[in-house]
Amino acid sequence: MTLHETNHDALWLPFTANRQFRANPRMLVSANGMYYKDQTGRDVLDGCAGLWCVNAGHCRPKIVEAVQKTVAELDFAPAFQMAHPLAFEAADRLAKLAPGDLNHVLFCNSGSEAGDTALKIALAYHRLRGEGARTRLIGRERGYHGVGFGGISVGGISGNRKLYGSLLNGVDHLPHTLDMRRNAFSRGLPQHGAELADELERIVALHDASTIAAVIVEPMAGSTGVLPPPVGYLKRLREICTKHGILLIFDEVITGFGRLGGPAFAAEKYGVTPDILTCAKGLTNGTVPMGAAIMADHVFEAFMQGPETAIDLPHGYTYTAHPMACAAAIATLDTYADEHLFERAEALSGYFEDAAHSLKNAPHVVDIRNVGLVAGIELAPRNTPTTRAYEVFERAFHKGLLLRYTGDIIAISPPLIIEKNEIDRIFSIIGDILHDLA
Ligand code: PLP
Repeated sequence: MTLHETNHDALWLPFTANRQFRANPRMLVSANGMYYKDQTGRDVLDGCAGLWCVNAGHCRPKIVEAVQKTVAELDFAPAFQMAHPLAFEAADRLAKLAPGDLNHVLFCNSGSEAGDTALKIALAYHRLRGEGARTRLIGRERGYHGVGFGGISVGGISGNRKLYGSLLNGVDHLPHTLDMRRNAFSRGLPQHGAELADELERIVALHDASTIAAVIVEPMAGSTGVLPPPVGYLKRLREICTKHGILLIFDEVITGFGRLGGPAFAAEKYGVTPDILTCAKGLTNGTVPMGAAIMADHVFEAFMQGPETAIDLPHGYTYTAHPMACAAAIATLDTYADEHLFERAEALSGYFEDAAHSLKNAPHVVDIRNVGLVAGIELAPRNTPTTRAYEVFERAFHKGLLLRYTGDIIAISPPLIIEKNEIDRIFSIIGDILHDLA
């Protein structure tokens, strides 16, 4: 069946203006390395690693072969009271990559599931330790933790919440950390704003620590427009959580796997170890859906106290630790290590930063934020917000560049295999578009 014979109404695309899209579809048909091919056969430079996930570049042979081999050998294995060797191997590899005593991995299929898994574990942890009154979950404004009910409850994007009723009870939110008045055009972490973590003390004073189970934040908020944490902020948050017996959850669905340059996770990069770390996306290089919650020893141990015949945690998914996903994860972690991709991201980050900030004086630009191989370019909104950034995204695609936009912010997060001339190309295309744009 050709595209023209297909009933386009059959497919409802998520987070998409479907009627606008159908009038002018953007279709990807194949991918290799840094490039997609669209339906006209044109190369499209991937400026956002698919959706922040293809950190090693597209269709990497080792990963593709591992998935192909596994599906032919073990198409499926249940993870409830059963397992397969690749599941143990993938968990061991991931635990070794995670910092501190984050040693215990529960797999799921997405970042949203990883977030909800972590929140459930936090609630159950306190209950099992006799602190069942700790039921409050604290998120942050402009946080994104996926689309499950837990994730949107602690998430801080009103557009993702307002249609769906009252959500989880007892949730509160820290203020976000974007302060363009003091920090606009910061390179790397902004200097001002560590004190915003002290807002957690205010929330504790209001609700009492005995009612609070966990705080969940992205070390760097990605989906809401690249908000690197102010210097010292994450450490302060850690101290306050520890002081009050509150679990700290880092959502590293975007920041994981070298995206920020250097270590695998932001936790290690910034020297702050959470009690639970969630990840997805780059875990399998985007090839097979997979997410994970990685628990510290003390969290895991709390679940290992009951009778040995009792199920520790009534939670999990049919596709938990799917063989194809485990094979993809192992081959992905091998690829990252063999090609030193996290170190590569670190080494390229200065060049990337200079290229991003070269647009400082381009029309409409009101802020540029960056860390590792991530940059956000914030544009002054028109009367109708988001239309300017959408137009940049649209025009870029037609010039052979895939970007992301959120609100009036353009996000750039290329695969870590990017070359310098491709970095130049990304920012020169964006610059040209901004100069042409009303
Ligand atoms: N958490 C963060 C920080 C994310 O950026 C995302 C997705 O972008 C998610 C969770 C949700 O992941 P998924 O779309 O795989 O459910």
